[in-house]
Amino acid sequence: MLSAENRQIRLARRPVGEVGPEDWEHVTEPAAAPGEGRFAGRTRFLSLDPAMRGWLDDRPSYLPPVGLGEVMRAGSVVEITESNHPDFGIGDLVVGLFGVQEHVVSDGKGALRIDPAVAPPETYLGALGMPGMTAYFGLLDVGALKEGETVVVSGAAGAVGTMAGQIAKAKGCRVVGIAGGAEKCALLTGELGFDAAIDYRAENVRKALRTQAPDGIDVYFDNVGGEILDAALASLAMHARVVLCGAISQYNATAVQGPANYLSLLVRRARMEGFVVFDYAPRFKEAAREIGGWIADGRIKTLEHVVRGTVDDFPRTLQMLFRGENTGKLVLELV
Ligand code: NAP
Repeated sequence: MLSAENRQIRLARRPVGEVGPEDWEHVTEPAAAPGEGRFAGRTRFLSLDPAMRGWLDDRPSYLPPVGLGEVMRAGSVVEITESNHPDFGIGDLVVGLFGVQEHVVSDGKGALRIDPAVAPPETYLGALGMPGMTAYFGLLDVGALKEGETVVVSGAAGAVGTMAGQIAKAKGCRVVGIAGGAEKCALLTGELGFDAAIDYRAENVRKALRTQAPDGIDVYFDNVGGEILDAALASLAMHARVVLCGAISQYNATAVQGPANYLSLLVRRARMEGFVVFDYAPRFKEAAREIGGWIADGRIKTLEHVVRGTVDDFPRTLQMLFRGENTGKLVLELV
């Protein structure tokens, strides 16, 4: 049986700039029982994603904004505690967009059963989940990566970045990561096998890219936008592909900074293309199989940054992403 109460985080008001504690409402409501064709469960791990910042703004996007007063949208791993659903049983672990709440009732649409014998549950929010899929399709499909090319990844020590760099290595490329701080850079060139790393907080990125990619960048996988995107545009090889995955440096900005160096796309006969990972959902299984193989043979290391707490810790945990306080996939384990 579920405990009687369900603690939730709801959107209280639309943030301007950085998200603050006053933008959230902490609510306790009775935990609902599952009706026919539904299951109920307990949230075990919540995913923290930079995209959450965009979901709070009332403007057209690839998903509708989270409504005022609604439970905050979030991916999570849920353990099923009661089930009237033919496809899901008690004890099953499922991933889905179940929201920032302790207890979940679902009709199972969009829920995927995971196998904790293959990988720990939190890995299904990282390397084997949405960030892994993003890196895979962003690089291989949008970036049309080829063996021997030079790949530069920004936000390289994060959930998507660690996967993008390692996938590019698995595909036989020279990989340069850009991240904030000496510790993150040491992780990239050490444990994760990148060929070089640039600390954007301490180095002149434009100069460092000229050193680390002397023949130019073939694929630039951009997670951050802003000045780092501009620096990369200044170092493109002929026919380069710029993969517009995200722009976290701009998510809290009230006026977005566009790339001043965009004309290098013309000069280098390059292209810059955005994508949304959800469009690749029909091919997620294919990607998970290949990524799973790389994890199994040790070519890819999974990296999760697990914060332990309650749903009330969601607001301050989300801020960690925008302060560079996470390494690898940031998750909140509910204890
Ligand atoms: P993440 O990289 O694990 O975490 C965010 C990281 O961004 C921080 O650790 C920080 O690392 C860096 N950062 C924060 N503020 C920054 C700034 N002002 N300038 C430069 N770097 C900054 O997050 P993630 O989940 O992997 O997401 C990475 C990007 O992919 C985001 O832009 C996200 O929106 C995007 N994304 C896109 C899709 C899609 O379908 N297109 C899907 C998933 C994610 P440092 O310490 O290195 O600064």
